[in-house]
Amino acid sequence: MNRQINAELWSAYLYLSMSLYAKSKGLDGVSHWMYLQWLEEQDHARILQEYMLRVDAKVTLMPIDGVPGSWESVYAMFKDALIHEQQVTHMIRRMVKMAYDVDDFSTVSHLQWFIDEQVEEEDSVRSILSALEMLGGDSAAMYEYDKTLLHRQYTKPEPLG
Ligand code: MG
Repeated sequence: MNRQINAELWSAYLYLSMSLYAKSKGLDGVSHWMYLQWLEEQDHARILQEYMLRVDAKVTLMPIDGVPGSWESVYAMFKDALIHEQQVTHMIRRMVKMAYDVDDFSTVSHLQWFIDEQVEEEDSVRSILSALEMLGGDSAAMYEYDKTLLHRQYTKPEPLG
């Protein structure tokens, strides 16, 4: 779980980098969307930290690896985000399996929220990728689409109330 906390914080760092990259390209909507991801991933780490404290486990914060700072295109960036989320899904599934193997059913139950969350995460990135595919590099359409992403609002993950 400490490794997962580190992975969530690395995710946060990755999305912050993507937000900054989008901003540098003048895509304020994409930048905003990624900025909310950065907040959300920090909350994911917090959910795990608080759970560990409740079950009297020791939280160990490890160094966070560096992240890429630029991409070939916005499409390539979202593609990277999808691949990343698929890896996170894999890590969470493995963690649930480990918890099952040692009859740690409270952890299994706690991680169920993450299992559902990953379905959402992958789905939302896939929707954006589909939209970008339809735009097909039309910059006027991209300008309009980018504005729609500004409407996304942050909702605190349910486990944090
Ligand atoms: Mg996450």
